[in-house]
Amino acid sequence: MSSSALSSSSTSMKIGFVGFGRFAQFLAKTFVRQGHTLHATSRSDYSTLCSQLGIQFYREVTTFLDADNDVVLISTSILSLPEVLRSMPLDRLKKPVLFVDVLSVKEFPREVLLQVLPEESDILCTHPMFGPVSGNDGWRDLNFMYEKVRIRDEDICSNFLKIFESEGCRMLEMTCEEHDRLAAKSQFITHAIGRALGEMEITSTPIDTKGFQTLVQVKDTVMSSSLDLFSGLFMHNRFARQELENLENALHKVKEMLIQETNEEQEKTEC
Ligand code: NAP
Repeated sequence: MSSSALSSSSTSMKIGFVGFGRFAQFLAKTFVRQGHTLHATSRSDYSTLCSQLGIQFYREVTTFLDADNDVVLISTSILSLPEVLRSMPLDRLKKPVLFVDVLSVKEFPREVLLQVLPEESDILCTHPMFGPVSGNDGWRDLNFMYEKVRIRDEDICSNFLKIFESEGCRMLEMTCEEHDRLAAKSQFITHAIGRALGEMEITSTPIDTKGFQTLVQVKDTVMSSSLDLFSGLFMHNRFARQELENLENALHKVKEMLIQETNEEQEKTEC
């Protein structure tokens, strides 16, 4: 790790992104601003975008691994994680590296990373609980969850966490299991409702209430994220199926209650 001081009190690191899609690009802008040196590799060619951002892009994962990263940050889709990791020639790594993932489910990458990575690699599982829309105006007071799964080099781990601390994130250390249990009840439900509102094609009307504007915003934000993300939230969080059933049952109960109320009212007026 080089030692040039940053205004944010994080020390400059070499960070390599595996997967340079929408979320990685969003994170990378802040990392660059903080003074870190970034490398990236991805299935698609992002060399033009990367050169505009001052990031070295590698078409070949082998040369990416030779690039002497302090941290390798995995930001591929949830669904592609096993395929992406298994296609990396990890024996090319010249030194122990901190692997960090930012996937929106946590038990799944924890298990895959423990299976696939060399024993000498440290592992930090994280979930920044925000994205390009909610984090567009800065990361202050936004939640950042993490579990130190296998950390021997505490310095590099805490230096990585400082990237988010120094932006004002609320740092939440918890197990991956606890994350998935809570995220199924919160983030997954938000996405499920947003997708349902997308199916209904709701749009603003000339007489919107504030409540309805919030619903349109939820729908727009959710529909701007990939279908792979939504599928991953369901397939690889073992608590999600139950929450989807709870949502379905709740909607059914609300409908039944309204029908019953209507029937009772009609009976009263007929008497
Ligand atoms: P995403 O659709 O979940 O992932 C897109 C990324 O996955 C791209 O880098 C893409 O590479 C790569 N990818 C997809 N299929 C692949 C395959 N078969 N082989 C190799 N690479 C593949 O969209 P995202 O929003 O950028 O999310 C990236 C990660 O961040 C996800 O794990 C997500 O859960 C997590 N995350 C997202 C948010 C958010 O707000 N969007 C917030 C927190 C965490 P190419 O672009 O090169 O095709």
